[in-house]
Amino acid sequence: MIRSNYPDPREPVVMDAFTAGWTLAPCSLRDVQGIPHALRAPKARAVTLYELRGGTDAFAAVKLYARYYAEELDCDLPRVPAADAPRDGLYHWLWVMPSRDEGFRALGAAQFRVRTDVIGVDFFVQMELCYLHPCARHRGIFSLSWPRFIRRLQRIHVPEPTMALKISLYGKPTVTLGTDEEHQVRCYTEQPECRFHGGLMQQSSPSLWQCWGKGEDGNVCKESWTARANLRNAKEQ
Ligand SMILES: [Zn+2]
Repeated sequence: MIRSNYPDPREPVVMDAFTAGWTLAPCSLRDVQGIPHALRAPKARAVTLYELRGGTDAFAAVKLYARYYAEELDCDLPRVPAADAPRDGLYHWLWVMPSRDEGFRALGAAQFRVRTDVIGVDFFVQMELCYLHPCARHRGIFSLSWPRFIRRLQRIHVPEPTMALKISLYGKPTVTLGTDEEHQVRCYTEQPECRFHGGLMQQSSPSLWQCWGKGEDGNVCKESWTARANLRNAKEQ
């Protein structure tokens, strides 16, 4: 876990005196403005996911994690606005934990953008950045956050997911938006869609969704959707 008394939080990349290796310093911030969601991750101590509403420190943290993200994945740097710039159609999230020396330590950041520019496709939200500091990975933090993201943003498209994201999102309900094959977009949703009606199904138990839609013949649709077995096992553990 990220140490709450990390040597120098202002320096993003530091030489670790013990291992003589380079270390990615987690960001620290004095305060966070936003809507907090406490996450009960057994291996992650007191982690809070904030949907950001502003704050210079917080947006500097998102910017730094965007840099780490682009470095690690060797991809284009996601464009993160400054704290006082307009953020229409953008959603920012920050994972933080309390720190002993300077308020909070940021564990990771995510940015989503509303897309309304794909021909023949209703609006959806695209994940542009999702980065957890290496010390904050494998602790269930992302998995616990996903239901918050999906409830808030409804339809999330994840372009070129990393292996970690693929594993984490395996078996989650999706819908395909758009009728023109060239422009179809696959999005994660809270509920799966019925392949006969195209409507969203209702969840009736943690791993079971059912359509219950009325067909043209007046009969109730019996179509159901079950989360894959491994997802079910993971939830029960
Ligand atoms: Zn149906």
